[in-house]
Amino acid sequence: MGEDLERLLEASRDSNADDEHDPEGQTIAFERSQHQALAAETRHRLAEVDAALARVADGSYGRCAVCGEPIAEGRLEARPTARTCVRHAPSLGNG
Ligand SMILES: [Zn+2]
Repeated sequence: MGEDLERLLEASRDSNADDEHDPEGQTIAFERSQHQALAAETRHRLAEVDAALARVADGSYGRCAVCGEPIAEGRLEARPTARTCVRHAPSLGNG
């Protein structure tokens, strides 16, 4: 009896594992997470653009938010929404 129960529990564990590793299920979960990441990134970029437009409106666009020095033209060309100079960028490839 106890052994049967063990086997039953083991079988149900196995079927759970199969669900998780179902190729299609995994692809859908993966794609959903990819889409969520993309949507989050897009919202982030829209917020950056909104913030940049607000800085254009109040005249602070193109100036470092930390030191107030003008942000290099090349940096603004590469990252039009940059709010700090290269020196004060939060991290590489960011800000
Ligand atoms: Zn700065």
